[in-house]
Amino acid sequence: MVHLASIPTDAQVDPVVDGLKKFKFERVPSIFPDEDLEDEDPAVISVYGSKYAAQDLPKIEMPEKEMPREVVYRMIKDDLTLDGNPTLNLASFVTTYMEEEAEKLMVDGFAKNFIDYEEYPVSADIQNRCVSMIARLFNIPAHDEKTNAMGTSTIGSSEAIMLAVLAMKKLWQNKRKAEGKSTDKPNIVMNSAVQVCWEKAARYFDVEERYVYCTADRYVIDPEEAVDLVDENTIGICAILGTTYTGEYEDVKAINDLLVEKDIDCGIHVDAASGGFVAPFTKPDIVWDFRLPKVVSINVSGHKYGLVYPGVGWVIWRDPEFLPKELIFNINYLGADQASFTLNFSRGASQIIGQYYQLIRLGKRGYRKIMCNLTRTADYLAMNLSELGFIIMSKLSGAGLPLVAVRLDPRKGAKYDEFAVAHQLRERGWVVPAYTMAPHSENLKMMRVVVREDFSKSRCDALLQDFKFALETLDKMDERKIEDHRQHMVQQAANKWRKLSVLGGPNAAYKDQDDHSLQGKHGKTHAVC
Ligand SMILES: *Cc1c(COP(=O)(O)O)cnc(C)c1O
Repeated sequence: MVHLASIPTDAQVDPVVDGLKKFKFERVPSIFPDEDLEDEDPAVISVYGSKYAAQDLPKIEMPEKEMPREVVYRMIKDDLTLDGNPTLNLASFVTTYMEEEAEKLMVDGFAKNFIDYEEYPVSADIQNRCVSMIARLFNIPAHDEKTNAMGTSTIGSSEAIMLAVLAMKKLWQNKRKAEGKSTDKPNIVMNSAVQVCWEKAARYFDVEERYVYCTADRYVIDPEEAVDLVDENTIGICAILGTTYTGEYEDVKAINDLLVEKDIDCGIHVDAASGGFVAPFTKPDIVWDFRLPKVVSINVSGHKYGLVYPGVGWVIWRDPEFLPKELIFNINYLGADQASFTLNFSRGASQIIGQYYQLIRLGKRGYRKIMCNLTRTADYLAMNLSELGFIIMSKLSGAGLPLVAVRLDPRKGAKYDEFAVAHQLRERGWVVPAYTMAPHSENLKMMRVVVREDFSKSRCDALLQDFKFALETLDKMDERKIEDHRQHMVQQAANKWRKLSVLGGPNAAYKDQDDHSLQGKHGKTHAVC
């Protein structure tokens, strides 16, 4: 019998686990009287009085027996409290707030598999209503009140982009075959600052990536360079409406005009993942969409500024002529014929219903008011960060996404970098990513704050206060302390990542591929998404 008061001998201490010398829980005796815990009545037990509270949650093997639902609910909820707080996560564009009525509709839709068109024809029709509204928002050409728009909902912009790349590749192959030419070496032209899903699409579908590189003072695609990279094997050019790094809108019109002027047969796909629900409201005069004849397809994330919880994106083609028929499946499921062009078969209907709610609940004026507020908050944040000595790298007054990208002014000679500032903010609960700019931009470091719908003026003030505090703290540290602190944070991050694995499960076989799967070739991480 081990008494709690007795001093442990070395033999009783377990080997080091996770760098921590610790006793096994089983060695700590229970002082509970003799009743048999196995006889606990699930109907009366309390969560924290049950035997489960004294056990680890099952992690490796599926448990043999059931657990009471209240216990499971509470234990998983407790486990999740160690996740970050989504509203303080200023790294992400993805929606963290929806109205209760929208949530109720979405919960009602949980049990519907969207692909069962026959069973859920209204959900299918709601998708088509959203496609029509979004295509018109992007100024799809109308012929006698009708448009030829084709489009579909997806899980997000990544799937939308995969589909768009497949359509461009197939279209190019068909053209080449008709001309009796080789289809061995398709390529796609894009900015080196593309979101990682473009690299994925190119690699998954065997399309060569042709990059226009950013420079120390240009973070968007150079239209001339882009068009110069086009050759007979180019399936298309990608232009980004709202880059992930600085939120800038690339000059789609300039690319379009060059292609027209030089009479080059090459289409443009606009990656409007973030900008598609912003620019039409804040800057309707920027011509980036189907008003340009060379724009063949556009994607947008419903779960970013489309204001829906994660799991929905959209892709629209200007005309069926740009969506080769071979890619479309007419699925006859439970009796109904419906065209389908997606990578997934089954998916939830909730996000599509949520998108429809937002489109008709807010209308154009509602979106405009929200996007204009966000732009104003972003400007306010930028002006104040500039006051604190940061260099502002993003655009103001709606000329880009409502986000603020900054870097420290090298002339100030600070002994710390952007990563140190991010770490300081992290200690106060804020997630503000620091990252290195796309290649060929002289290893510029920067930080980015995404202004989302639920980032109000007063939350912005709280962030500014903490920015100020972070700089004051760092200014007071000497170089060695900053370095110690940095090492500590690096170690912590490494520990965290060691435990997580991209593919889930114990996939040691992929260990040395981590660099690729997590970061892509250009060092992109999940933090910048
Ligand atoms: C977020 C983003 C993507 C990926 O979109 P998901 O909806 O997260 O799949 C692609 N491109 C850009 C420019 C983005 O901002």
